[in-house]
Amino acid sequence: MTPLKKILIEEISTNGPMQLADYMARALGDPEHGYYMQRRPFGTRGDDGGDFITAPEVSQMFGELIGAWLADLWHRMGQPQDFCLVELGPGRGTLMGDILRAANVLPDFIKAAQVHFVETSPTLRAAQKQAVPHATWHDDVATLPAAPTLLVANEFFDALPVQQYRKQSNDWLPVMVTADGDDLVLADGDAAAAPFSDALAACLPDTINDGEIVESAAAVESAMQQLAQHIAKYGGAALLIDYGHAEPACGDSFQAMRGHGFVDPLAEPGLADLTAHVNFPLLAHIAETAGLTAAPISAQGLFLEALGLSLRSQQLIQLSPEREADIESERHRLAAPQEMGSLFKILAVAHADMPPLAGFSSEAP
Ligand code: SAH
Repeated sequence: MTPLKKILIEEISTNGPMQLADYMARALGDPEHGYYMQRRPFGTRGDDGGDFITAPEVSQMFGELIGAWLADLWHRMGQPQDFCLVELGPGRGTLMGDILRAANVLPDFIKAAQVHFVETSPTLRAAQKQAVPHATWHDDVATLPAAPTLLVANEFFDALPVQQYRKQSNDWLPVMVTADGDDLVLADGDAAAAPFSDALAACLPDTINDGEIVESAAAVESAMQQLAQHIAKYGGAALLIDYGHAEPACGDSFQAMRGHGFVDPLAEPGLADLTAHVNFPLLAHIAETAGLTAAPISAQGLFLEALGLSLRSQQLIQLSPEREADIESERHRLAAPQEMGSLFKILAVAHADMPPLAGFSSEAP
């Protein structure tokens, strides 16, 4: 049994069952035993260790194309001389490293950019400092400086705690985690009065059948609200990439990964990565409520191809012909529909005064 599992079972025997969202928050963020606090979760380029691999760790092309997207947007928005280049949940700092290297083609962008990271894990902050030594760190979006902001977040929102509710007649039963001997198990809680925010209620399917699960992530809503209000006040744009759905949807998406495979999310708290799918219509709705514009929600494959993924892979192959097979396989992994290309969605939101955002067609994915 993991140390955290033992602690949680003891807590449940004293205090009663805990909400699923509290379980997820503890399993990921417990200061001593939380997953992001102690583990080195990410597989890295050329090394298939870790529990999962994210797009920036699959290929340098991901960060390079996003770097070009940011530099182009900065140029077209009037080249503000002081602006914040922000990343939420930067992991090992690989994405920002690639962004900055690619954006070197526009030295004035690099000169004007102040890099800010929002990160809670001390272990990952240390890794990020190696990759981007001159960054400034924050615990959350609230302390970002008052300046135009270009923000990216890859697989950040999926790591925030989610609470599930099961529909039963006209009631919503919160999903709880409770103990059964040495096991943690799920159980229905007492009916909740009004479990959803207005924003979430506006982004659910019209009909929800009995027995279905709805996921509500207060931390996602609050982070999105903070960042949208920040951009509404100081200008700029945000590019948000995660796996999730582009249309209102319900269902159970809570899952755990360990060693590149799915495992039981309750079996080993602190040792497995827990995530839930991101509700992209909700993120767009919150941005629009704050006065921002939102581009149509796109899919990672379409977006990267629109930014020139094929071209970039051809350039890299010309530079290193011996890596052709690897580069082709990285491109496939990032963009093919059966790999990360369709499951991963992209939402770009911007201040109303910003120029058009590159890479988005007006057609839904
Ligand atoms: N963007 C990286 C890592 C994704 S994993 C990549 O693509 O490789 C999620 C990241 O979010 C980790 O860096 C994790 O420590 C961070 N994180 C999780 N919860 C957070 C929170 N509440 N506030 C700030 N960062 C958080």
